[in-house]
Amino acid sequence: MIDVKNKHITIAGAARSGVPAALLLKRKGAIPFLSDAGSVSDQFADTLRRESIEFEENTHSERAMQGDFLVMSPGVPTSSHIAEKYLSDNKSVYSEIELASWFNRSPIVAVTGSNGKTTVVNWMHHTWKTAQKECIVAGNIGYAFSELVEQTSEDKDLLLEVSSFQLDHIDGFRPSVAVILNITPDHLDRYNNNFEKYAASKFRIAENQIAADSFIYNADDAKISGFAKKLSERENTPEMMAFSTESEVPNGAFVRNGQLIIRLDNKEEILMNIDDIALPGRHNLSNGMATALAARASEIKNEYIRESLQSFEGVEHRLEYVRTFNGVKYINDSKATNINAVWFALDSFNVPVTLILGGRDKGNDYRELESQIREKVHTVVAIGEAKEAIRNQLKDSVPNLIEAESMKEAVKKASNVAKRGEIILLSPACSSFDMFENYEHRGKVFKQSVLEL
Ligand code: ADP
Repeated sequence: MIDVKNKHITIAGAARSGVPAALLLKRKGAIPFLSDAGSVSDQFADTLRRESIEFEENTHSERAMQGDFLVMSPGVPTSSHIAEKYLSDNKSVYSEIELASWFNRSPIVAVTGSNGKTTVVNWMHHTWKTAQKECIVAGNIGYAFSELVEQTSEDKDLLLEVSSFQLDHIDGFRPSVAVILNITPDHLDRYNNNFEKYAASKFRIAENQIAADSFIYNADDAKISGFAKKLSERENTPEMMAFSTESEVPNGAFVRNGQLIIRLDNKEEILMNIDDIALPGRHNLSNGMATALAARASEIKNEYIRESLQSFEGVEHRLEYVRTFNGVKYINDSKATNINAVWFALDSFNVPVTLILGGRDKGNDYRELESQIREKVHTVVAIGEAKEAIRNQLKDSVPNLIEAESMKEAVKKASNVAKRGEIILLSPACSSFDMFENYEHRGKVFKQSVLEL
């Protein structure tokens, strides 16, 4: 922790994390200056003017380089000119969660991973509510940590969604409970296309943990298991709690004969039948186990965990059921912006699927879906900029590959080919920015098109 009083501090990026970070710093007696290489939205500019916080847009000027240290919004890459300048001047660069953690009083339950963070943080929130245990939810979803940190207290847990960008610039950030869900290629553009670097930044979540803390990890992920082994050999290692859908783990959660078992401190308890878990799919079994272990590490009783696992309704745009029309189920998985998420979406169903795929391509290899597609998908409707790549890569694996110019047309064409008892799934594997404002917008247009059929 650094005394920020009267310090001149530059914050790179003036949006959802940067602005709350600047406001927090001001309240703590620092002199913040916000610098954004792009434009600052009217709403944030108004807030800053009202609070008399100076800022600049469309540049990182010489003045921005003069701060005592730099706070980075997660949207600003480490390779940016401003971060490089601070580092080459031997000045510190901190992420927004690092800054906020200096003022934190709550036990932190932090969740990271390539896919499933929002689902698990919301599932935890539901569990804490079921158990009537006080908590605050922050991070990528809803409010930034900086915005809520002054509400923290020892008797209230902070449930925090953490991206690898936030972990890139931590120093003392220490979660009491750290959860790491999975690591698959995503955002590699920010890590020089280096998977090892991307993984290493996620593992930093455990960097400052001590023996009193818990580390919850996915034992089915070889990369994470390898890291966990090293972590368990470290001095002052946190309690290791694993979850697995494939094998029994020594301490943690696993499946035996269709039942979810929790084994902690050599004591085994049957939590529930896995068929009673509210959300579908193997990935949600993993997510549910991660949630259960985080709750146990936070001293929530099994009865509440069981109730929560049975009653959680999921999060919008993540395998969200929309409607059944003419006997066909429509599912909105607009948040599936990478191949791995689509793989698990397809894995969740055992009836024939018509898949709406595409958007802005991030260099995907659609052939990774080949075995799932051969098994379940009779029609792919390709949309957006990725159409050609999808055609080239999947034309030999799917019987029917058609294209559509809009979401409405995609839904119409899909509805023409799907039969009773089947599923039409939007799970695009791509970002949405070629046709939509964001994935939420894409999901809403899909749902609207489905409701208008
Ligand atoms: P994140 O916050 O990490 O982006 P979300 O919970 O928003 O994750 O889910 C993103 C996408 O990944 C959705 O399509 C969802 O169905 C899928 N997903 C959720 N959990 C997992 C998981 N454990 N493994 C793979 N995909 C997942």
